[in-house]
Amino acid sequence: MSAASPAVTPNQLIRKEIQALHAYHVPPSADMIKLDAMENPHLLPQALRDEIARQVANAAINRYPDAGAHQLKQDIRKVTQLPEGMDVLLGNGSDEIIQLLAMAVAKPGAVLLSVEPSFVMYKMIATFVGMRYVGVPLAEDFSLDLDATLAAIERERPAIVFLAYPNNPTGNLFDAEAVRRIIEAAPGLVVVDEAYYAFASDSFIPQLGKYDNLLVMRTYSKLGMAGLRLGFIAGDKTWLEQLDKLRLPYNVGVLPQLVASTLLAHHDVLLAQAESIRSERTKMMAALNAMAGVQAYPSEANFILFRVAKATQVFEGLKQRGVLIKNLNGGHPALTDCLRVTVGTQDEDARFITALQDSINQLA
Ligand code: PMP
Repeated sequence: MSAASPAVTPNQLIRKEIQALHAYHVPPSADMIKLDAMENPHLLPQALRDEIARQVANAAINRYPDAGAHQLKQDIRKVTQLPEGMDVLLGNGSDEIIQLLAMAVAKPGAVLLSVEPSFVMYKMIATFVGMRYVGVPLAEDFSLDLDATLAAIERERPAIVFLAYPNNPTGNLFDAEAVRRIIEAAPGLVVVDEAYYAFASDSFIPQLGKYDNLLVMRTYSKLGMAGLRLGFIAGDKTWLEQLDKLRLPYNVGVLPQLVASTLLAHHDVLLAQAESIRSERTKMMAALNAMAGVQAYPSEANFILFRVAKATQVFEGLKQRGVLIKNLNGGHPALTDCLRVTVGTQDEDARFITALQDSINQLA
């Protein structure tokens, strides 16, 4: 350090609101049954893995990727029934798209509104970009409190509203009519975040084009591509061409583009895996409902939220038995004593249920 430049500390330089944040926590999971992050637990068929291996071996990784990802976008369109005239923009995971959206609308004093409890990155990203965050509490059963949400929209005039459909971490699908009322009342953009669309019974994709302020975001993370980091947002190109200016030029790499295109050409394989996760979800729900002292919430996603006495101790008991799920106790007040488990393979789920019963019994 030279005498000419006095030492500067993070405390002096970094924005106070960033210093106050905690980084998104990813716990170690080596050798655990990993049911904490809504991943698809199934491997790909061997023939498809071999095909990917051949393509990766031949990929031009010395070159930058196609900045416009034309082939991949076309493949996405092929498997997504987008209404006429709608475009897509790709992100390095949908997290990146949330950030692009927030950066684009972050005028001084602008508000990002969502509901609570919901996906924590909405609030975190609002902080990253200096937006004011407003979280409207959900009703006790985690449905939308429409009156409170409409009142907050009227009062706060949010530049952007995020609604996860189905919601994370609660797993439920909000009432579609209530979502429509929110879209109609919102003075700014409404982003329906369909991260869990593959496991849900409804979608707002068919509504695109009916509302000028509606965008629908999806990720392929939960469908079996979490490691690739790929999400997209669909909507009118007058919105997407503005967002595209903020997108870093090569945000989706050569290998993710290539592998995702191949996987989408075998979309039926992924959909069959999603279908098997859905039927595993039904079994897991039945097992949780049959367990004394456990209250499980209905889910249209690939995870189930449940409430149990002494949740943190139950979570630790599961960990000691080699099963990692998500502890939501101590976060949002509406999630006191709540845990969230991702639906895994039949074997993983059976081991989770046994470990959960043992952990509860040990505490009794
Ligand atoms: N939206 C919701 C509702 C989520 O739960 C998640 C992941 N947990 C994401 C977006 C982000 O997913 P990714 O960045 O993997 O696309």
